[in-house]
Amino acid sequence: MNRALAKELEAWDKKYVWHPFTQMKDWRQDPQLVIEKGEGNALIDTKGRRYLDGVSSLWCNVHGHRVKKIDDAVKAQLEKIAHSTFLGLSHVPAIRLSKKLIEIAPKGLTKVFYSDSGSASVEAALKMAYQYWQWKGQKSKTTFLKLKNAYHGDTLGSVSVGGISLFHEIFHPLLFKTFEADAPYRYRDSFAGSDAEYADFCASKIEAVLKKHHRRICAVVMEPLMQGAAGMLDQPRGYLKLVRNLAKKYSVLLIADEVATGFGRTGKMFACEHENVTPDILCAAKGITAGYLPLSATLTTDKIYNAFLGEYGELKAFFHGHTYSANPLACAAALANLEIFEKDKTLAKLQPKIKLLTEELLKLEQLEHVGDIRQAGFMVGIELVKDRNVKQPYPLAERIGPRVILEARKRGVMLRPLGNVIVLMPPLSIKESELKMLCRVVYQCVENVTGA
Ligand SMILES: *Cc1c(COP(=O)(O)O)cnc(C)c1O
Repeated sequence: MNRALAKELEAWDKKYVWHPFTQMKDWRQDPQLVIEKGEGNALIDTKGRRYLDGVSSLWCNVHGHRVKKIDDAVKAQLEKIAHSTFLGLSHVPAIRLSKKLIEIAPKGLTKVFYSDSGSASVEAALKMAYQYWQWKGQKSKTTFLKLKNAYHGDTLGSVSVGGISLFHEIFHPLLFKTFEADAPYRYRDSFAGSDAEYADFCASKIEAVLKKHHRRICAVVMEPLMQGAAGMLDQPRGYLKLVRNLAKKYSVLLIADEVATGFGRTGKMFACEHENVTPDILCAAKGITAGYLPLSATLTTDKIYNAFLGEYGELKAFFHGHTYSANPLACAAALANLEIFEKDKTLAKLQPKIKLLTEELLKLEQLEHVGDIRQAGFMVGIELVKDRNVKQPYPLAERIGPRVILEARKRGVMLRPLGNVIVLMPPLSIKESELKMLCRVVYQCVENVTGA
């Protein structure tokens, strides 16, 4: 693209566009990047500069950009039909996709309900859980148990079960009431015991609330293995299983939000597999279409699905849906995504790369301002601190995360921080040489910006 046109586009962006989670005052003052193309694991801007896509275009890209098999699948679907409703009608790619999803999902999940974003998949899960207990005659079960630091999306229902005050405090009066339990955050919990003891300790916080309030609680909502948006807070091994058992013991459902963790990101297809857990409801989105198109799915069991069956006049149907639920183009992309997982053995090829990533991250520990490094497969959070000895956080005003990210751009790596946490979440398709380059650049940038 010629320079004049690139310049004009940037000006129009600043004139007409309002970006999500972005302080537009800063945005308009600073020079901005406009992406024009993608190729493999790289993004290419309107000035022709290439960047390694270090956070998978916000955690959703799986096999890279412009993947021929997915491109072709979407084009082929386009030749048939771009969209037709899923309300009272069905279509070919969604039926095929549903069968595939159930085949790869944790055992016991048997039904798929579609929406178009991660937030919407959580909304559907919440309503499903609530309505389930209403149909079961448990009318007092009208609220949820959420975890501190949880993130489940930005619509008001999903914000209600979220626990990140930095994002959501302002909306407090608009939210429904919930119960909250502390979540694992080993780095900032002064807990001395083993991992197993820490898992017990964290689960006991959940049990304390359930013991007292289970009659009012529909479900426990959680991100399995890793709380993403909170800053990649990992959970001790065994914790998820303990929560699963507690939910059973106190007759509440377990909703596993796998929007970020699903589709290979933690090294298995779904994070729940690491602990042989089947949730009552599983939310999937981000990686479901390999980062191609908006689609999400809420998976559940026969037990819950059957509770909604009844005579037409009983009005027991699940009254929820969207115009673009199960969009055929998105379903076609998702099918191609899963086919690649199978044919290219994506998960098997990922294992040595996860190992390499762990090794490369180890080098970062030498840096004075790296407080904690957390990893679950290809999900990584590097927490930067002002003083490592007392784990003192950097004040927000120092903008340490954004400064590291800007430095990384100069070196051809695209990242997005979460406060003082540098997030790495590369596409599963990243090459070993690119992975090394990613970690090397992060090392240099942290060293450079923190002056250590
Ligand atoms: C991103 C995310 C969501 C929200 O998904 P959107 O598609 O952005 O609405 C929900 N839950 C988790 C765990 C996420 O990471």
